[in-house]
Amino acid sequence: MFKGINSIDFSNYFSNYFSNNEICLEYIANIKWSDSNFICKKCGHNNYCKGKKKYNRRCTRCKYDESPTAKTMFERIDFDLVKAFHFLYRLSVKKKGMSSYELANEFTLSQKTCWTFRNKVQFAMKSSENYPLEKFVDVDEFLVGGPEKGKRGRSHGKKKLVIIALERTKSGGFGRSYSRMIERSSTKEFRPFFESHISKNAKIRTDKWTAYTPLIDYYPNLEQIDSDNGLNFRELHIQIMNFKGWLRGIHHHCDEKYMQGYLDEYNFRFNRRNHLDSIFHKLVKRMTLKYRAKDSAVESN
Ligand SMILES: [Zn+2]
Repeated sequence: MFKGINSIDFSNYFSNYFSNNEICLEYIANIKWSDSNFICKKCGHNNYCKGKKKYNRRCTRCKYDESPTAKTMFERIDFDLVKAFHFLYRLSVKKKGMSSYELANEFTLSQKTCWTFRNKVQFAMKSSENYPLEKFVDVDEFLVGGPEKGKRGRSHGKKKLVIIALERTKSGGFGRSYSRMIERSSTKEFRPFFESHISKNAKIRTDKWTAYTPLIDYYPNLEQIDSDNGLNFRELHIQIMNFKGWLRGIHHHCDEKYMQGYLDEYNFRFNRRNHLDSIFHKLVKRMTLKYRAKDSAVESN
């Protein structure tokens, strides 16, 4: 498996390593069938022999010939795997992020192609919700997009409302973070977010907004304190500013229905910022194993 190195040479090393489609295909095949536990996607049989192409596997019962990319998010992309791998590298490792325009230029692809693929990648980056935030967690909402200043509990015009939770360390450091688009600042919408992303034992702080109060029934360590215009939530507000800055840099008009993808992309990278050596591999793994039906056309057989 490719192990990245966190240094200036990384980019060059990466380019040299993934220089042809075959090595990318082999990489995907190793992830897909890593444990040698072959299960035929057609009939569920466990035995296989060599398929038509290198790295393909053919079921010995139904003869279905499966390529490494079949039933993965690499299926049916209309550019080669080397480009796809470099694209994933950019999105996972580059701190500043890139707009679809910049990606299109760099990879000589159309903006629409880049945008569609990025949308897929963002789906792969979505939180598994298996690792809720623990210890000290601050929660607040913020508005993104659109020029109007919104007021809580009221219509916020073109702006989109986002709830965010951030782990903080005792010494003022940052842990992990999650965020989700919501319609309004209500308990009804806060609670599913809490359930997905925050441990019941966490020491949670929110401001004094009343919609947080009923959550104390489920999160006994939730404390409501005066926000003092955000001063009491310093780390959280730095995190919000950083996200907004990042989004402004890569995307000027983000349609509401795609905002969650950008939140997922940001959080995926942020939560792995101290593990840049493995972030690329993790992303390829998700692209390989987190199949969704709409990425694949009906099998022609
Ligand atoms: Zn089969």
